[in-house]
Amino acid sequence: MGLLTSTGTPLKWEQAKQYANEVRTLGINYFLSVYKKLKEKENSCLKWGDEVEYLVITYDDETKNAKLLLNIQEIIDELRKEEEEAMKIPNSEETVKTLWRPEYGRYMIEGTPGTPYGGTLKSLLQIEPNMKLRREIVSKFLKPNEVAITLTSFPRLGCPGQFLEPHYEPTGPIARSLFVPDEVINPHARFQYLTSNIRERRGSKVAINVPIFRDKCTPDPFIDPTISKDRNLFPEDKEAAEGAALPNHIYMDSMVFGMGCCCLQITFQACNIEEARRLYDHLAVIGPIMLALTAAAPIWRGYLSDIDCRWNVIAGSVDDRTKEERGLEPLKNDRFVINKSRYDSIDCYISTDKTLKPEYNDLDLVYDQDICKKLMDNGIDELLARHISHLFIRDPLVIFKERMDHNDDEDHDHFENIQSTNWQTMRFKPPPPNSNIGWRVEFRSMEVQITDFENAAFSIFIILLTRVILSYGLNFYIPISKVDENMMIAHKRDAAMSEKFWFRKNVFADGNIPNDGNITQENENLSIPDKEALDSSNNSRLNGHADTNGSISSVEDEYEQMTINEIINGNGDKFPGLIVLISRYLESVNIDVETRCQLAKYLEFVSRRAKGKIKTTATWIRNFVRSHPKYNNDSVVSQEINYDLVKMVEKIQKGQVAVPELLDCFKV
Ligand code: ADP
Ligand code: MG
Ligand code: MG
Ligand code: MG
Ligand code: MG
Repeated sequence: MGLLTSTGTPLKWEQAKQYANEVRTLGINYFLSVYKKLKEKENSCLKWGDEVEYLVITYDDETKNAKLLLNIQEIIDELRKEEEEAMKIPNSEETVKTLWRPEYGRYMIEGTPGTPYGGTLKSLLQIEPNMKLRREIVSKFLKPNEVAITLTSFPRLGCPGQFLEPHYEPTGPIARSLFVPDEVINPHARFQYLTSNIRERRGSKVAINVPIFRDKCTPDPFIDPTISKDRNLFPEDKEAAEGAALPNHIYMDSMVFGMGCCCLQITFQACNIEEARRLYDHLAVIGPIMLALTAAAPIWRGYLSDIDCRWNVIAGSVDDRTKEERGLEPLKNDRFVINKSRYDSIDCYISTDKTLKPEYNDLDLVYDQDICKKLMDNGIDELLARHISHLFIRDPLVIFKERMDHNDDEDHDHFENIQSTNWQTMRFKPPPPNSNIGWRVEFRSMEVQITDFENAAFSIFIILLTRVILSYGLNFYIPISKVDENMMIAHKRDAAMSEKFWFRKNVFADGNIPNDGNITQENENLSIPDKEALDSSNNSRLNGHADTNGSISSVEDEYEQMTINEIINGNGDKFPGLIVLISRYLESVNIDVETRCQLAKYLEFVSRRAKGKIKTTATWIRNFVRSHPKYNNDSVVSQEINYDLVKMVEKIQKGQVAVPELLDCFKV
């Protein structure tokens, strides 16, 4: 969630909201000043980095319980000491190998490489060792019965009984949850106030309902016996009984159920703003595909659910829209009816590339027209102006009073305040102040995998895909409403195997696979496809929407539904497959055999996952639970099943057991 720079007196929602317009104005002024200064900025080198989030677990072997360890701030403080020491030394970049940040859950840590990786193919091979190093470093600060694992959702978060160490009863005034205490939230004021201000802005607790997985002995209808109907501690306690908790669903009422999940994110620097905007668009289409392929979250609040991934749970967990904004009441006090949560898929493409037809932006975009006009009056094109003014329909949620006292257009906090609480599938990141960092794009949909090998494989796949998109001038555009449909499809149980996703039939500029002469890397430098080559491929793309037969096609004819296997591995002559394109790209650049073989291994893993030879983490977890001797076929994931599952996850990540279902013969 970014670095926690803000300190001071946080404001309760009633006071904070009075500053909303001011924060928006200052944020927009800041963006304009960055844009004016840096719109021409060129960064010739690709850089990228991953973010991995970890849950810290403590075992109680006597009671067969795996719990979330709450007091890990001391560990983060220790981890950051090294970082801070090193920062004091000039040119210290090389000495810090890992960076650590707190996250929403008080049991979470986020780890990134110490510095972003550089733009050579060889540097892709640093990812997995660095991820391994991170686990080693964390484990030095843990006791023998504690472990940091990469599991997207903790299965028994919010269950009756003990799931936290130390244990607290769920009676906190901040989230007012029926299921989790406030102690589960990171104690930094930002996280606490995010939670209470979302609840207050919305006018009720968040309400997340995930369909229950119906097993042989699951009661029908399923009415959750663990939801307290008669607690009378907060006015919100009535909500569950008054309709917030749906029958046949797993009901959750607090931000931690979403923001307490772990994910895998990749940020990369483009060589300029145009390239960043292109990658933003094309990767947005890939977002739901990768969500389904990395699906890893089938259990919620102790029940097997009928979904496989986290995204919609997080969307619900931070949905601060009022009833008016959700369209449940006519607009009176609020300005917009808003179709989505702050945490959701993107609503508009932003590239200036001619391949972006207006028809692809087919969602009725909600945006602040005054802000849009101001941006356009200051020289920003309509697409980017709409993107920013769409983000800025939101209110800033956490405001520190002191921050409002001294302000100027160079201050990037106000922009970040709104930008960083728009948690979308992609994030377009402008260069930060006083740095030589360029325009960056973040790919945010993936779920974290159990092993570093898998996390490295998916990171490498995405980085190489960006190279292929740029080098071959690929076009993934489909109407953005279809990308949204794909997001919904991605959540379905076993979507990676059983579902089909909207995808573009022809991803090439002129209908044919471009010849590799267009790719001008003479060495293993990953950075930039040659400008001329790109221009020529752009030109051919400009010549219209002719399909292979030369006839003009309508947008509806451009896409169809494909399985993930077809998208990744191809479908004969019909569609080449992303892995095939990546392999072809790798063959056309000059790399040493060793690097080529290493990369092939990661790609092979992704390919086999897409074929179904390797199960998704979600399917593996579901199968583990359903075949556990103590499982009663009733969708309940008991304390003991959870304990065995977490123990098994630990063994897998350490390479202590072979699990061919999940890893085939790959070594972790
Ligand atoms: P956030 O939480 O806001 O997404 P973080 O700072 O936690 O951002 O992580 C961003 C990722 O971007 C890290 O992996 C980091 O290594 C990487 N990164 C840092 N600088 C650059 C850069 N110039 N270009 C690309 N990636 C970068
Ligand atoms: Mg994070
Ligand atoms: Mg985050
Ligand atoms: Mg981060
Ligand atoms: Mg991030």
